[in-house]
Amino acid sequence: MTIQTIGVVGAGQMGNGIAHVMALAGYDVLLNDIDQDALDKALEIIRKNLDRQVGRDKVTASEMQAAMARITATVELSDLGQTDLIIEAATEREAVKQKIFDALLPHLQPHTILTSNTSSISITRLASRTDRPEKFMGFHFMNPVPVMQLVELIRGIATDKETYQSCLEVVEKLGKTAASAEDFPGFIVNRILMPMINEAVYTLYEGVGNVNSIDQSLKLGANHPMGPLELADFIGLDTCLAIMNVLHEGLADTKYRPCPLLTKYVEAGWLGRKTGRGFYDYRGETPVPTR
Ligand code: NAD
Repeated sequence: MTIQTIGVVGAGQMGNGIAHVMALAGYDVLLNDIDQDALDKALEIIRKNLDRQVGRDKVTASEMQAAMARITATVELSDLGQTDLIIEAATEREAVKQKIFDALLPHLQPHTILTSNTSSISITRLASRTDRPEKFMGFHFMNPVPVMQLVELIRGIATDKETYQSCLEVVEKLGKTAASAEDFPGFIVNRILMPMINEAVYTLYEGVGNVNSIDQSLKLGANHPMGPLELADFIGLDTCLAIMNVLHEGLADTKYRPCPLLTKYVEAGWLGRKTGRGFYDYRGETPVPTR
């Protein structure tokens, strides 16, 4: 099936990035959020990010204009009924996502593919509550979407070949690379990345190293572009903890036990860059380690 129109539900940091890359690749995009302010802000961010790409000669001014013209923002979820593919990128709570799919179902065309950008919720479980588990899969972008090359495509137990193939063609049209993953907790990237971050927090917790020495060790000793604690702050410590909990519960193995220090930072509201403080304090001119 050839996909031409794409619905994006949720216009937060992931949703606006997804709308941006889809419109730039030539898809017509309907961007939905329950919050009109979030939609206004998303369009502003997309414009700013496209503008930056024009400044760097990655995109021409006319391509930018055409991309902006392809995006329609709407608070009416039912408007997405006419699209060929829907990517749900709303808040990471199963009840929220389920409510969105329930509300969408009566408006969809029979061929519409449903996908979720979830980092951790079971694709098979989300799919099982819809009328089309065979046309349902995980479409997992990395943050920031316009920059990161990878998209994980996650097959639920019932996902059919045609659905997978249609989504793969979209990823290829974006000029990105797909990694194919089966539907188990954390998929591929977070299954490997989050335990590493969690182990870095244990290393800090046990006093083996401080924030600087841990980040420096992985940057200079393992050739990572960012240290694990710096990266955790970028992702959001609440998100890291939520994913560790999913791994711990879903795989029932104590090796995924979230570090108590990670829990403590989240309880303090020190969630990383987005709140101004995490393993580093971002409130001054340069980030200062908090330990
Ligand atoms: P965010 O908080 O920035 O944005 C979520 C948006 O969803 C908000 O604008 C909110 O108003 C909207 N929303 C909530 N309920 C809604 C509803 N019923 N209908 C429509 N919109 C609704 O979150 P985010 O970081 O963009 O994450 C979105 C999804 O992407 C999550 O599933 C998350 O796990 C996943 N994800 C996040 C990252 C990341 O690094 N942040 C990376 C990959 C995947």
